[in-house]
Amino acid sequence: MKQDILRSELRKRKQRMTAQRELILKAFMESGEEHMSAEEVYRKVLERRLRISKATVYRTVELLTEVGLLRKIVFRDGVVRYELVDKGEHHHHHLVCNSCGKVIEFPEDLLDGLENLIEEKTGFKITDHQLKFYGLCSECQKSIANKE
Ligand SMILES: [Zn+2]
Ligand SMILES: [Zn+2]
Ligand SMILES: [Zn+2]
Repeated sequence: MKQDILRSELRKRKQRMTAQRELILKAFMESGEEHMSAEEVYRKVLERRLRISKATVYRTVELLTEVGLLRKIVFRDGVVRYELVDKGEHHHHHLVCNSCGKVIEFPEDLLDGLENLIEEKTGFKITDHQLKFYGLCSECQKSIANKE
């Protein structure tokens, strides 16, 4: 359970699990969105009529990133968004449509060989990486084809 990971990571930092921290984590777990900015998280929490300040939301997503439960990701619009991380995993890539801006997750890593090679050659220990592919999603390709 992610709550357990959060609790133990917080304990290591001599911090406590609070209702607000749990709430933000849940907002990610229950959201259909894969990537949310702190602003979007704040709005989600407000929709549920829960009282929390914007500053607390911002601070909490940063904290969840520090403890490794969230990962920051920035697409072309420059907005910092966050996504849930499965501990020790970095096994998906992002496909970004240049036309509609949609972000599609590609659920395989396929970079183990490259990671091993980099680690062997440099002694660097890889814990994560981000790869984005830019192009046209299948719907946008279709609508362009229809216009022609
Ligand atoms: Zn990887
Ligand atoms: Zn598209
Ligand atoms: Zn993602």
